[in-house]
Amino acid sequence: MDIKRWDYQLEITENKNICLNFYKISVISKDIAQVAKAGQFCMIGLEKVFLRRPLSIYSADKNTGIVSFLYKVVGKGTNILANLPVGSEVKVLGPLGQSYPLDIEKSFRPVLVAGGTGIASIHFLASNLSTPGSLYYGVRKKEEILCLDEFEKMGWELNISTEDGSYGYKGFVTDLLSKQIQQNSVIFVCGPTPMMKKVAQIVKEKNISGFASLEQKMACGLGVCQGCAVKINNVNKMVCKDGPVFSISDIYFE
Ligand SMILES: Cc1cc2nc3c(=O)[nH]c(=O)nc-3n(C[C@H](O)[C@H](O)[C@H](O)COP(=O)(O)OP(=O)(O)OC[C@H]3O[C@@H](n4cnc5c(N)ncnc54)[C@H](O)[C@@H]3O)c2cc1C
Repeated sequence: MDIKRWDYQLEITENKNICLNFYKISVISKDIAQVAKAGQFCMIGLEKVFLRRPLSIYSADKNTGIVSFLYKVVGKGTNILANLPVGSEVKVLGPLGQSYPLDIEKSFRPVLVAGGTGIASIHFLASNLSTPGSLYYGVRKKEEILCLDEFEKMGWELNISTEDGSYGYKGFVTDLLSKQIQQNSVIFVCGPTPMMKKVAQIVKEKNISGFASLEQKMACGLGVCQGCAVKINNVNKMVCKDGPVFSISDIYFE
């Protein structure tokens, strides 16, 4: 990969607080928008922060070139990002990584499972699949629910859970999933590790296929530093280069 070819300095056209500590940021890059695939991510470079930070692509419009990311402020990098004004510039390296497979047989139903900011890559996937299916989205409380209206507009059946019961099913969304899952489903999941581990169990029990996007801590994003190694089928793979999307039954969860 010619890194320089994919390393951009881009003007921020939107950077707004959506709710609590969740933000949406947009830049314009026709190059990225033309080739971005669901499940891919970009490494965001920030001043005064040594390592770039990975963010999944939330949407990419081929016509306007608008590429957007959803992020949660959790530490130094995302804090600096949230304070960048519209009109300032940010370094964006990407799109990187392997995408979700989109070639689902017609007789199968896509079932998307998201937790927290995992909704970002799941949203891009939903807008790229030809037929809508079911969304299972779990958060702690209703104020954390993001972009639900967009899934509704795209025709997805919504199954929402909150841990405190303030919206939808009270409890974990994986409990709902295990009760309702049909044999003709293909599962796609992005969320916290315990959620993905539970989905891996469901996939195994029901003998269906599934794909997970891992959010491992990473440094280079290019498979060079090997900081994001995970065991896939007992072999070390790099989440940044070989993933972040893997067949869920191949992932070793501790
Ligand atoms: C492929 C990929 C896609 C991602 N997509 C998104 C996204 O779309 N939206 C989003 O908000 N976040 C996403 N993340 C996580 C995001 O990269 C981290 O939250 C971010 O790098 C934290 O940077 P920071 O400097 O603010 O926090 P730091 O100061 O580095 O860390 C603060 C806290 O965040 C935790 N943290 C750091 N990196 C990660 C990580 N990779 N995963 C989980 N927790 C982490 C740390 O353990 C620590 O508790 C993604 C990560 C990966 C690997």
